[in-house]
Amino acid sequence: MSYLRKFGMQPTTELMEEISKVVNHPARSFIAHIDREELLEDLARLVSYPSCSFEGFDIQPSLECAAEVARMVEAVGFADVELIDVGGRAPVVWAEHRADETRYPDAPTLLLYAHYDVQPAPVQEQGWRTDPYVLTKGGDGRYYGRGAADDKSGIVAHLHAIDSAGGLEALDYVNLKICFEGEEECLGTLEEYVATDPQRFAADAYLIFDLGNIEVGKPMLTSALRGTVIVDVEVAALRQEIHSGVFGGPAPDALKALIMLLATLWDAHGNTVIEGISDFEWTGGSYPEELFRRDVGLVEGADLVGTGSIENRLFSRPSASIIGLDATPVAQSSNVVIPRAKARVSVRFPHGQTAAMVTEAVITHLTAHAPAGVVVTFPYTLEAGAFAAHDEGNLYTLFARAMSEVFGVQTQVMGSGASIPLVAALQKISPQADIMLYGASDLGQSNIHGGNESVDLSELVNMIKSEALFLHYLRPDTDDIIIP
Ligand SMILES: [Zn+2]
Repeated sequence: MSYLRKFGMQPTTELMEEISKVVNHPARSFIAHIDREELLEDLARLVSYPSCSFEGFDIQPSLECAAEVARMVEAVGFADVELIDVGGRAPVVWAEHRADETRYPDAPTLLLYAHYDVQPAPVQEQGWRTDPYVLTKGGDGRYYGRGAADDKSGIVAHLHAIDSAGGLEALDYVNLKICFEGEEECLGTLEEYVATDPQRFAADAYLIFDLGNIEVGKPMLTSALRGTVIVDVEVAALRQEIHSGVFGGPAPDALKALIMLLATLWDAHGNTVIEGISDFEWTGGSYPEELFRRDVGLVEGADLVGTGSIENRLFSRPSASIIGLDATPVAQSSNVVIPRAKARVSVRFPHGQTAAMVTEAVITHLTAHAPAGVVVTFPYTLEAGAFAAHDEGNLYTLFARAMSEVFGVQTQVMGSGASIPLVAALQKISPQADIMLYGASDLGQSNIHGGNESVDLSELVNMIKSEALFLHYLRPDTDDIIIP
């Protein structure tokens, strides 16, 4: 009898109590030995491709990386590996494994997601100490390279987890879908593609290996993601630049007006205040302030802004950032009144509202607060929805339990201030599915997107073991998961 059938009808709290009992119990011997050499070789091979799919970058390395990923998927035993053109520049590597339908007609379907594209890695600007495309062991024992954590670790993790759980032949009680994306970092077209082929992407659970723990060795499942809305706000005041001495004062100044307008997005403490965007009290795990301070890296004399707990400020309330500004650079400035200026405002918002509602709220706010004497327009917007997991789902709970058992520490349910647009798209096509967000990049040291990105090998191995143990829990014919 499967664990699901044994406990499937029980309330969450009981399941969570069961989970807590297994803490400090070593992961079971069924997990095949994880060959760390082979794991590192696979990771190094993927890291060697500068697979940055951003517009303006050579797409060839992404295409070569996709081919390499496809070879790895094949090597695990998947037949008919596909490279799906989802309408962007780099394909999705796709493969499926079907359960033995006669023996297991109710086999669950799991979709395993990771992405093989990376952020750019400008060596000088980001201060890389090693070649970003050569996986290098640092003096601290961590492995450095662009994508070592985000998210090439996710690709090797899923594939090694399948191996560790006995390989595809042994997994005849579960349907697997492999979905390795090539345009996650540059906000590609997969979300829209998912909506055009919902059958293909339908699943009972999505295993999204693209996040991680706050600290190495302390497992977390992310249960909430904020959505993102980007709004460009442009202020026009004059047909051309005019002398700031001759005309400055009564003549409207576009940049000054833009600064006044943007300043209305926050209160005196730095909390974002945009009418019409809702928030809530965070009740999940906590992000201790001293860890948060360490992770953000304040310069001497700087301090955090806003009021309330870190979790509330980060997971369950909106935050507005100005991520770009078009005006005259200081080095090219002269004594003129600036006729036009533009800013890109990025607003992160908690679940409980649609991205369209938030876009409308931001535009309404900026229109209402527009200073007199200038023309304000919104030439560009972009939206991605927020996400909340059903953290009481059976598969979700089993996954949390597997992580607790492997790490020997209770799994925490956490939020993330980040947005993953694909997750909202998947939730739309399979509303009942459990969505597990986790990974091997730790917030403290991995420094994803920045210089000297790195991964902790023990963390990666523990994540692989967790996923393998989860696959094992789904076995219909095993009883060896009764708590000792
Ligand atoms: Zn990522």
